[in-house]
Amino acid sequence: MLKIGCHLSVSDGFLAMGKVADSIGANTFQYFSRNPRGGAAKAIDKKDIAAFLDFADQHGMGDFLAHAPYTLNLCSDKENIRKFALNTLQDDIGRTENLPGSLYNFHPGSHVGQGKETGISIVSEALSQILRPEQTVTVLLETMSGKGSELGGRFEELREIIDRVDLHEKLGVCLDTCHVHDAGYDIARDLDGVLTEFDRVIGLKRLRAVHINDSKNTRESRKDRHETIGNGQIGLEALARVINHESLRSLPFYLETPNELEGYAQEIALLQGLYIS
Ligand code: FE
Ligand code: FE
Ligand code: ZN
Repeated sequence: MLKIGCHLSVSDGFLAMGKVADSIGANTFQYFSRNPRGGAAKAIDKKDIAAFLDFADQHGMGDFLAHAPYTLNLCSDKENIRKFALNTLQDDIGRTENLPGSLYNFHPGSHVGQGKETGISIVSEALSQILRPEQTVTVLLETMSGKGSELGGRFEELREIIDRVDLHEKLGVCLDTCHVHDAGYDIARDLDGVLTEFDRVIGLKRLRAVHINDSKNTRESRKDRHETIGNGQIGLEALARVINHESLRSLPFYLETPNELEGYAQEIALLQGLYIS
């Protein structure tokens, strides 16, 4: 069985998210670690988490992925923004520890004109400050489309960041199919080639999760506009190859397509049906 779910924006706790996920046929899900525009996080409700972990266990769910607010920028040119991002990430990772062994994904950041080299060194220094030897949560850097001054559009940039972090064993990568396509990698026609490149530059053992999205735009457009599965420039056949690829098929997949719950349920069923067991 394919491990697949979608991004859920459910604000009333983990058990509520688990029930929604189950109702759409998902066996995993992604959620915002806090309000996506930033701001204060809700207090941890230990009872809710215990009930959720129980529910997840009974329903065969796992691989929960927290997503940082996308407004966070660890390598902003403004000190207060950098500081806010660092504090938020640190606090979020601590809170994610309430789901032991789970995953936390964030966008590496935008260097806003300071240059890639400077951006990469600020991000890796921040991660070195944040990561703790005792943490069980794996922090994932997401592959990005490279729009604007965004870091992570090239595998080399993620590799550079990881290499410079002391506790790099706490780091992994989340591959977003829309983003890599928009960044220029030809996952639609040459998935093997792209994964060989990923392995050469970063190492496939770092790959821990996949955001499975179609793209509204052509390859190398650097736009980052997600499309529903099979209705974009990547296409259903290519996405079916992604979920079945021997290097990817056991990873958890998360849909971030423009959908309501019903659309997500249909896409989960579609992809589950295309998964060769
Ligand atoms: Fe993301
Ligand atoms: Fe994504
Ligand atoms: Zn995106």
